[in-house]
Amino acid sequence: MRVVLKLGTSVLTAGTDRLHGPRLVDLMRSMAAVRSGGHEVVLVSSGAVNAGWEVLGFPPRDRTLAEKQLLAAVGQGQLMHRYATIADLYGVNVAQVLLTADDFRDRTRYLNARTTLDACLTRGVLPIINENDAVATGQLKVGDNDTLSAFVANLVEADLLVILTDAPGLFTADPRSHPEATLIPVVERVTPEVWALAGGVGSHRGTGGMHTKIQAAEIATRAGTPVVIAPGDQPDALSRIVGGETLGTRFLANGNRLEARKRWILAEIASGRITLDAGAAQAVSERGGSLLPAGIRAVEGEFERGHTIRLLSPDGQEIARGLSRYKSSDLTRIMGKHSRDIEAALGFTYGPEAVHRDDLVRL
Ligand code: GLU
Repeated sequence: MRVVLKLGTSVLTAGTDRLHGPRLVDLMRSMAAVRSGGHEVVLVSSGAVNAGWEVLGFPPRDRTLAEKQLLAAVGQGQLMHRYATIADLYGVNVAQVLLTADDFRDRTRYLNARTTLDACLTRGVLPIINENDAVATGQLKVGDNDTLSAFVANLVEADLLVILTDAPGLFTADPRSHPEATLIPVVERVTPEVWALAGGVGSHRGTGGMHTKIQAAEIATRAGTPVVIAPGDQPDALSRIVGGETLGTRFLANGNRLEARKRWILAEIASGRITLDAGAAQAVSERGGSLLPAGIRAVEGEFERGHTIRLLSPDGQEIARGLSRYKSSDLTRIMGKHSRDIEAALGFTYGPEAVHRDDLVRL
């Protein structure tokens, strides 16, 4: 199972002013245990601004942009240093990946980020993601790490998104003002009623609150990834959740991931067309197989890597739609060639397929 874990500042500081060593150790131990169980973990971690605040000796909270960016820039290194040191105790290597809104909007950057994260997971490295706060502001930002974690869950096509926070989960009412409120164990769908339960912003340390967590749950479940919002102060919370224990609130996925992906491919505007030879057309339309460059006869239109393109049979009928692994000019250079010759032709390769079967919808 591929799990995205989101840790908020309030969890990492355990309610204190500083990143909390014992808490970080507990969290890393839990991640290491889950990884040893054969699962993949991608971490989305806040805490940089708090770490910067700590390093600079707790200057008065100044809300100016420059000051916040300074704290993030100082703290991000410190945060990674803490993670790397603790991860090393468990024999885990970590990688820092800083993303921002444009990395999800721009298709090439999106695919590049995905390639990097895939490479980390393939090599057993734990990627630790945060928003690139030192350079991204306002409109250019995702803005909060709950939403970022949902985007990341989509990016890596996670099987589960776990958001650990300083609340036990989603309640029937705000438990601070309604002592009779009870925890909701399962949410089948994020409805307006669920939104109403989210109330206002919670603690003052992080950016989120229940609102951004519900937003994250909505984004991820719509793309087919279930979400668990659970308390970060429970020992081994992550391994228990991955092991199937009921902790916090679970939001069920809305359809399966592959279906969601295919819906999304069909909703995209196709920016190019490629014509296949008879063998490739048959392999695609009858068996739903991947399309290799060898089976391409013509490339029309201009498109980037990752754009949606139409796949045509030799007689010009559209038989499928899919995401191209190569941009149009590259595809033109490798069409008709064997996949082992891609690297010689282009000087690099993004893999043997022109359109991978997971990125293909038959019509
Ligand atoms: N990126 C911020 C940080 O590392 C946190 C944003 C958030 O809490 O959502 O401090």
